[in-house]
Amino acid sequence: CGSISTRARFLRRLDRTMGSLDIRIFGDPVLRTPARPVDVFDDALRKLAADMLDTMRAAPGVGLAAPQVGVDRRLFVFDSGERSGALCNPTITWMSEETQEGEEGCLSIPNVYFPVVRAMHIRVEAQDLDGAPVVEEVSEFEARIFQHEIDHLDGILFVDRLEPEVRKEAMQAIRDMLLGL
Ligand code: ZN
Repeated sequence: CGSISTRARFLRRLDRTMGSLDIRIFGDPVLRTPARPVDVFDDALRKLAADMLDTMRAAPGVGLAAPQVGVDRRLFVFDSGERSGALCNPTITWMSEETQEGEEGCLSIPNVYFPVVRAMHIRVEAQDLDGAPVVEEVSEFEARIFQHEIDHLDGILFVDRLEPEVRKEAMQAIRDMLLGL
């Protein structure tokens, strides 16, 4: 029907205006490639981070790493509900022994959710979008988001963190998802 496709075209155009980026799905090699450091802190980087935030919120999600939009750089954005931001070149410099278990999903693995064990508290050294050094100490939900997103920068997905038996179940769920079941 013509009117539907006109509307779809209009919506796609609207999406683009809002800075929507294509999210790469499980199986795309970019998700398995360790990303390169951000070394240029310019307007293009800030535009990319803003577009990533728009894309993440529209999805909707709480975190998005650059490889998930096909960009081979160590950058992620987040919005925990309490605050939002972008971090470049993050390194976890401390993790608590105390852990937390909670359900995780991933915008690159739609509709697949499994509980993942993460550190309860972490310290992260990173740079902001201007290249200035920042230190973040985060706990609970934000610590979970940060660990999930930093994993993405090393080509690691949350299903890799599951116990072997549960991981098998997750891989089956991913196959079903990819087949559209
Ligand atoms: Zn993810």
